[in-house]
Amino acid sequence: MHSDQHPAPNADTGKPAQSKKSEKKTSQKTSAIPLPRTRKNTNNKQSDRPDLHTGGPLLDTFARVADDLRLSVTDRCNLRCMYCMPADGLPWLPRTELLTYEEATRLTALFVQLGVRTIRVTGGEPLVRHNLHILIAQLNAITPRPELALTTNAVLLEEQADKLAEAGLDRVNVSLDSLQQDRFIRITRSDNLEKVLRGIRAAKAAGLTPVKVNCVVMRGMNADEVPAFARMAQEEGCIVRFIEYMPLDADGQWKEKAVFTAEEILDSLEKAGHDVVALSSEGPHPASRFLVDGEGQIGIIPSVTRPFCSTCNRLRITAEGGLRTCLFALEETNLRDPLRAGSNDAELEALIRAAVWKKWAGHNIGMPDFVKPNKSMSQIGG
Ligand code: SAM
Ligand code: SF4
Repeated sequence: MHSDQHPAPNADTGKPAQSKKSEKKTSQKTSAIPLPRTRKNTNNKQSDRPDLHTGGPLLDTFARVADDLRLSVTDRCNLRCMYCMPADGLPWLPRTELLTYEEATRLTALFVQLGVRTIRVTGGEPLVRHNLHILIAQLNAITPRPELALTTNAVLLEEQADKLAEAGLDRVNVSLDSLQQDRFIRITRSDNLEKVLRGIRAAKAAGLTPVKVNCVVMRGMNADEVPAFARMAQEEGCIVRFIEYMPLDADGQWKEKAVFTAEEILDSLEKAGHDVVALSSEGPHPASRFLVDGEGQIGIIPSVTRPFCSTCNRLRITAEGGLRTCLFALEETNLRDPLRAGSNDAELEALIRAAVWKKWAGHNIGMPDFVKPNKSMSQIGG
């Protein structure tokens, strides 16, 4: 792996900056959670600086620097998670609409020139895109080399882990919402729990570490499994990240009352008798991090109750080449068509800078003025 080329731990890697033993613990117990306490309506008025930023890092009018890019390679998926896709799937994009690997690499290289340091390949399910390792190898050749991560449901990971690691992938995040077979089937509408668990083991064996397990916690569905996932973090050496359920399901079934909140996640761990200690965070981490019983590392991503918009460093490119500056953005900047029409790097850079400059302050979930985007998570690239 090329970790020596990345001196500063990236904000979103969650990779401990130090070994577990030397990890800096705060003295806080969970009764003093290191999360912003208030949930204010975000003032989306841009600052009054009218000048478009023309050099240096990708900056917006709220002085945030974008240095993390999620690159979606497909809108298709081999699962149908109830919080993301309808049972019958969605109308898939025609292949000609998708960025080719060469186009995706050219855009990614440009973002790296503009200061992006972490690339997360995602989808839809990225492992259903043919020969994904070829794209990873192309991204691996970008200079300076960015950190390369992948978010996957892991159904196809066992068979691809070695190839991906050899191509230069650094690490994986695996989505897994239940450790019980019948529930896994209900949530994903597929019988693949064993394959996912084998995929996690294969990723560890291939050195795609630390493996992070992303668990969307839903009231009345899997919330009672929070302690079991914390045990998994201890026993398997994965970092388990609990994610609040967001209104990005294609079925439009999301209800605020189905969100099992960060606070409730911590409470449920304490009620189950776990010792939970907050770890210090540096940089714009979306996850608040904790150590459970002295060894299992967990993170909580409170995207609904305590959004991290004010420090958000993320950008997204959809599978069809749309630049989104927020998961909940209502607009995209089409980069694919200018690229296919022959735009040079300077012209593409101008489009990118203009889009980032206009990034809004935040998404306001749960507020009266919140507007749900007309795309699901799988179509945006989570
Ligand atoms: N298919 C891959 C996977 O599931 O890991 C990558 C794409 S998926 C859209 C990326 C992440 O988005 C997953 O961790 C998934 O759990 C999360 N996700 C999807 N819909 C969500 C929702 N409504 N609320 C919170 N997280 C969601
Ligand atoms: Fe597919 Fe990932 Fe959406 Fe589940 S969350 S349906 S695995 S894209």
